This record gives sequence, structure tokens and C-alpha cells, in this order.
Amino acid sequence: MQNETVLNEIASIEDTDDDAYSAKEGTVLLKWHKYRERNRKLVQKKKESVLKKEGHLACQVCGFRYDRVYGSLGNGYIECHHVRPVHLMKPDERTTLNDLALVCANCHRMLHRDLTLSLEELKRKLKQEI
Ligand SMILES: [Zn+2]
Ligand SMILES: [Zn+2]
Repeated sequence: MQNETVLNEIASIEDTDDDAYSAKEGTVLLKWHKYRERNRKLVQKKKESVLKKEGHLACQVCGFRYDRVYGSLGNGYIECHHVRPVHLMKPDERTTLNDLALVCANCHRMLHRDLTLSLEELKRKLKQEI
């Protein structure tokens, strides 16, 4: 993809996590992060590989399963989070399956409140609060 197209796409990504990042640098980072997560083909591949291995899709932080709670409506649903620190990546660096983690919507939101947070760190926080 050409650089200009990439930049336009990044600029068009809506910021729904307004409270998480108010600083300009943070906004750019979050947009870049979301752009990385928008690769539908890769997300699909990630889901397929986990489904094949585990037989189901569960949040890697809290274990939530959409199919268990929402039945057939939740079948195949899970969100994808980019785990590599995006600020350390070069623009032309490719995202691989290992860069993606499957998480539920709640955990994904929490990870976006602080993009430096790792899955393990969020897991520990979750255990502390309950
Ligand atoms: Zn979760
Ligand atoms: Zn994410």
C-alpha cells in the first residue's frame, strides 16, 4: 500500500477512546495502533489459528467466551489487540499473527486506556480487583 493511502486511512480512524488519550502524540499512537488491528485478513487468520488449536475463542486476559454467554450470536466473536509496542515499530514493518492477541471488548478497552500495558499486567490487575 502506498504511503499516502496509509496516512489517509490512519487519519480516518475514529477516536472513540477520547478519555484515554488527550495528548496529541497519544492520539497518533492510538490511531496507528488501531490501524494495525484493522487488517481484516490477518485478524481472520488469527481467529482461525486459535480456533483450530483451542476449539474456541476466549479472551486471553479474563477467559471470557462470547459463545458461552451469548450463544450462537457470540459464535466466532472476539476482538484483536496488537500487542507489540507500536511506537517501536517502523511504518513498513509487517504485523504477524504473533503480534495479535484475542481479547474481549472489556479487556480491550482497558488495554487501550494504557497502551503500554501488557496482557500479563492487565491479568494481574484483574485478579487484584476481584
Ligand atoms: Zn477479557
Ligand atoms: Zn488494541
